[in-house]
Amino acid sequence: MKDSPQLPLGCETAIVPVMVPLPTPQAYSYAVPEGLEAAPGAIVQVPLGPRQVAGIVWDGETDAVDPKKLRPITHVFDCPPIAADMRRFLDWVAAYTLSPPGLVARMALRAPAAFEPAAPTQGLRLGRARPERMTAARERVIAMAEDGLSWTRTGLARAAGVSVSVVDGLLKQDVFETILIPPQPVVPHPDPDFRLPELSDDQQAAVRRLLGEGGKPPAVSLIDGVTGSGKTEVYFEAVAETIRQGRQVLILLPEIALTSVFLERFERRFGCKPAEWHSELAPRMREKVWRQAATGDVRVVAGARSSLFLPFENLGLVIVDEEHDAAYKQEDRVFYNARDMAVVRAHIGGFPAILASATPSIESRVNADSGKYADIRLPERFGGAALPDLHLIDMRRDPPARGGFLSPKLLEAMKKTVAEGEQALLFLNRRGYAPLTLCRVCGHRFQCPDCSSWLVEHRFRRQLQCHHCGHNEPAPEACPECGTLDHLVACGPGVERIAEEVDSHFPDARTIVLSSDMAGGVRRLRLELEAIAKGEVDIVIGTQLVAKGHNFPMMTLVGIVDSDLGLANGDPRAAERTFQLLSQVTGRAGRSGRKSIGLLQTYQPAHPVIQAIVSGDRDAFYEREIAERENARLPPFGRMAALIVSAADRVAAESYARSLRQAAPGARDISVLGPAEAPMALIRGRYRFRLLVHGTKQSDIQAYVAQMIAAAPGPRGSVRVQIDIDPQSF
Ligand code: ADP
Ligand code: ZN
Repeated sequence: MKDSPQLPLGCETAIVPVMVPLPTPQAYSYAVPEGLEAAPGAIVQVPLGPRQVAGIVWDGETDAVDPKKLRPITHVFDCPPIAADMRRFLDWVAAYTLSPPGLVARMALRAPAAFEPAAPTQGLRLGRARPERMTAARERVIAMAEDGLSWTRTGLARAAGVSVSVVDGLLKQDVFETILIPPQPVVPHPDPDFRLPELSDDQQAAVRRLLGEGGKPPAVSLIDGVTGSGKTEVYFEAVAETIRQGRQVLILLPEIALTSVFLERFERRFGCKPAEWHSELAPRMREKVWRQAATGDVRVVAGARSSLFLPFENLGLVIVDEEHDAAYKQEDRVFYNARDMAVVRAHIGGFPAILASATPSIESRVNADSGKYADIRLPERFGGAALPDLHLIDMRRDPPARGGFLSPKLLEAMKKTVAEGEQALLFLNRRGYAPLTLCRVCGHRFQCPDCSSWLVEHRFRRQLQCHHCGHNEPAPEACPECGTLDHLVACGPGVERIAEEVDSHFPDARTIVLSSDMAGGVRRLRLELEAIAKGEVDIVIGTQLVAKGHNFPMMTLVGIVDSDLGLANGDPRAAERTFQLLSQVTGRAGRSGRKSIGLLQTYQPAHPVIQAIVSGDRDAFYEREIAERENARLPPFGRMAALIVSAADRVAAESYARSLRQAAPGARDISVLGPAEAPMALIRGRYRFRLLVHGTKQSDIQAYVAQMIAAAPGPRGSVRVQIDIDPQSF
């Protein structure tokens, strides 16, 4: 690239701050050349060092720069500006998460190709002329286009089963003419009155509170309702109301890639699907959705956490479904919780936020209890469907057969379910065949070379895999330590191993395994979920993928293979997470009104979490958990930040973590714990140490952490520090 043009000296020009999508601490100043319009929010191209980058014209004062060094904006994109409330939101996220504002702005600029309007696509249509010479291939092409519709070159060639050169040949002879087709909207506009629901009395009451009974809707509402109570049906009414007002709606979902069921429900209510936004979206579609969110052509987006950073023209409602879900936390670059940031986004934009869950996070439950959020409850399933009867299986008294993991009681219940033509779900939150492989002769354990985790055997793929970094190696036949053949044993179960056990007991049953690493990806998964919903499967064995939001009408038995799995790690949030997961999984059963049961295999039947689930005493669980957090001044009764120091060299990581600790200023209301090895002490070849900063509810924890980092010597070599405000584990 040539040098960008310098401004003639003494030339009077406007200077504006531009936020570039790089880890910069603030916006940089640029000159606006005459003839260009660059108001705050405009997306512009600017020179940065030797490169050209896209940035956003920002607000506020510009830094004083030497006019000789001042470089001009090179291009203003033909794109609606990033709205003022969105810019304030981006600033807020950067300040809250202590992230470079440029990195946060980058999340709003994820579809560069969409900054300029899409060019119309060229289409072919049959013209008047006939080919000079007819061939069989040409005949096929012409026959195919006789419907009068327009085709793309390649699309027509493919449909006719000929090579593109045949089409091009006809085009040259004017057998076809080209026409321009303007870009199409990704989805039609949803109709708020397409199908009005008949709501139960409870649901109607909930909708009235959500909409604010004639007045203003509550700023934040928590819909806390058991699985199957109709939370979705209820918040759809708020969606309809917002569409009627001509404003846009964002619905956040934790596993958007799997929610074809959700999209179809939306379509039944509103006559068309919402636009989707998630990482699996094809690039062309991403561009369209981004652009049409900015122009206002897309009215409703259903998306993963990153959709919070779409540049909506006129957002009027944000909904966070399954608000407790850990998938809302991003732990990479900018560490943020999309649920919390959605509430902030709504506050800044002056519109309502709705959170929904059958098992709300402790944070949201506390906010609803205190009246900060409207507390909207739906205590009963819709249509009188009963929740499943839950029972414990004490594995000490009812042990499985040697080499197996399923107790006789559970197998018996499965037999009955299958015989009656109903479905059973076995839940185990572990992918693969076995979580650990060891050599029976020398005791060697297979560990990831780059992480502190065991390699998980995946028998279908004949591989050992690391679930943290993706490292994989062929499953070995001999022990690499002692060389002995055929003495490697699989320890503990994963879903593949449970499937093997199920096959041996139910050779004729139609069984499937569902986990996120399944071959065929999201498309295959969607098909499998549909097959389950249609009753084409007898036994489903799945990881947490099956726990979320699916509606399986034939499912009447849920067996939890290992209820204790999540309870063992010393994290204070473990109880909450296990409670949520087990409640969600057992909630898959009996949704169509059939009588259903849940069986929980456990070695700790007296554990309070296990007890809270079987007794169905949800409120008691929340009360106890909230009291414990309050006593220990843990979030939301106190504030937490984690500093993760990592380096390729263990000593370097640890010593830098110590120097950060030493840089911690004295404060009455804040204490620093650690450094200690992080919960995962080695990931992708980097050693990790963690400091926990613990303050009171009033502490300015960001200011404290910022001070600490400023006072420490800058990290050197491979040392890196990541800041996690409101960490998931503490
Ligand atoms: P939740 O989100 O609380 O788990 P859903 O909104 O998925 O509950 O509702 C559970 C089931 O009940 C769905 O199949 C839904 O279509 C049905 N349902 C809920 N409310 C109604 C209603 N008012 N009319 C008809 N069906 C409803
Ligand atoms: Zn690894």
